[in-house]
Amino acid sequence: MNVLPGRRKSPSESSPHCAAAIGQDSHAFEPRNSPKPLVVAGVAIPDSPGLAGNSDADVVLHAITNAVSGISGVNILGAVADKLCRDRGIRDSRVYLAKALETLRQWRLTHVSVSIEAKRPQFAPHIPAMRASIARLCSLSIDEVGITATTGEGLTSFGKGLGIQALAVVTAHRKRRR
Ligand SMILES: [Zn+2]
Repeated sequence: MNVLPGRRKSPSESSPHCAAAIGQDSHAFEPRNSPKPLVVAGVAIPDSPGLAGNSDADVVLHAITNAVSGISGVNILGAVADKLCRDRGIRDSRVYLAKALETLRQWRLTHVSVSIEAKRPQFAPHIPAMRASIARLCSLSIDEVGITATTGEGLTSFGKGLGIQALAVVTAHRKRRR
């Protein structure tokens, strides 16, 4: 085969084998007397006010959804999720994440890492259930999902207990060609 200098690579030659992307989200708490439940990573956490937002305001699933968009280049939170919420009344963030996962096409998710910053609630007792929930939603094993939580020494609004911030990094590998 003649290979000329400057020959354009085919997509399979030039595309990376794996990719990582970051996503972020934050929400303020509803007032203490709000009936809205707190849902984080698809898990209901009792004895805490919910988070403000049109949807269930699942800050961790929103961060993961944004990270998945970082892999696929197709944004879901914003216009697409707003339309689902407005037109079809879908407030369950698990649906938004599923929409984002559908855009991965040639990518297969292989790992999810989540970092939460919040003063309240206490996340430690809920982390096993949250890892299991994310694993189920992303078709991963629980070993492929990590979650840490910190108060950040109270330096930010999240560390002062006004809301919750989540960062997510997802890793994906290119699917093998059949
Ligand atoms: Zn959000």
